[in-house]
Amino acid sequence: MINITIDGHGGSGKSTIARAIAEKLNFKVLNTGLIYRSIACRYLEEKLGEPTDDIVEKFINNIKIEVFFENDNQIVLIDGKNYCDIYRNEEISQLTSNLSKFQSLRQKVLIIERTFAEKYDCVMEGRSIGSVALPNADVKLFLTASVEVRAKRRLEQFKEKNIDISFKQVLKDLKERDYNDEHRPIAPLIISPDSIIVDSSCMTLQETIDYCVNLIKDKIN
Ligand code: C5P
Repeated sequence: MINITIDGHGGSGKSTIARAIAEKLNFKVLNTGLIYRSIACRYLEEKLGEPTDDIVEKFINNIKIEVFFENDNQIVLIDGKNYCDIYRNEEISQLTSNLSKFQSLRQKVLIIERTFAEKYDCVMEGRSIGSVALPNADVKLFLTASVEVRAKRRLEQFKEKNIDISFKQVLKDLKERDYNDEHRPIAPLIISPDSIIVDSSCMTLQETIDYCVNLIKDKIN
């Protein structure tokens, strides 16, 4: 199977770009952040409080995670429930980042990721995909943009959903999440040495997609 990994910072456009690349190459796409976010939604709903190793391990061992596709849309169900209405809000983003540093939780998601990559030609996006989940991937991209540009793009997305939040707050949240993801001891967000860095600060979405698709085609041909 051909596996392409896309790692990168929050708000770097990973999901949109991964979807577009997968469509052009006729590959499947797995958004791993969505799995982590759905798990965090469930955690919040269970009101388990401040996460510790024991609490997270017990929690993760007791939930059922299902990932499947409906008309190419990725659906994640936790114990049969779909959390797509809330998983993009900032409270969930921060909780997801906090929970995703726990080994027991990462291990469970890792199995889903590797099983998927064994089954399909795919584009997989998230954090530590190229470095930990699929170290032997055929092409590894690291997507980024300046934090101000990413915050501006995120703010636009929030506006489209009528979510009232200031630029200052989005910027602060992104910086905090970048820091957490980069500094956690387990599977931190890193640029693995064999990945290609794509900085989209000065590119439009379409330019970034075209650039990535050409890079990948060159590599896999
Ligand atoms: O990609 P997205 O912004 O939806 O990811 C939300 C959070 O989930 C990230 O900030 C990160 O903490 C966590 N995550 C992770 N590993 C992945 C995907 C997401 O730790 N493979």
